[in-house]
Amino acid sequence: MTGTGTAVARAILERHGVRPTSQRVRVAEMLLTAPRHVTAEQILGALRDGAGHVSKATVYNTLKLFVDQGLVRQIHVDPERCVYDSMMAPHHHFQLLETGEMIDIRPEDLEFAKMPALPPGTEIADVEVVIRLRRRA
Ligand SMILES: [Zn+2]
Repeated sequence: MTGTGTAVARAILERHGVRPTSQRVRVAEMLLTAPRHVTAEQILGALRDGAGHVSKATVYNTLKLFVDQGLVRQIHVDPERCVYDSMMAPHHHFQLLETGEMIDIRPEDLEFAKMPALPPGTEIADVEVVIRLRRRA
C-alpha cells in the first residue's frame, strides 16, 4: 500500500524525527494528513477493519509518541476518553454530546469578559474551552 496519504504521513513522521514504521505510518495517515479529532478507540477500530493486526498497546504507544513529538495534542474531554487533535495551533472546541464529535472554534471567535484571580505565583499557560452541545428539544 503506497497511496498519496501514506507518502504524506511518512513525510510528516520523518520531518518530526519519528522513525516511520508501518504501524506508525498507518496511525499517522488516519490522524495527521488533515486536521482531525479522533479517539484511540476510533483508530483501533479503523485499523482492525484494514489488513494486518495492530495491537491496542501499539496504538496507545504510537499516540503517546506523537504527543511527545508535538504532532498531535491530547484533549481531555472526559475521564473515560481522550481525543487526539492534529491541529496544533491553540483553539477551542464544541463537543456534540450525542456523538462525542469535536468541532473546532477559532480562538478569535471566543472572548473572555472576566477571568478569576490566579493563585499566587502562577500565570496562565493556556486556556482551552470545550462548549458542550445538546440537541434542542
Ligand atoms: Zn480541534
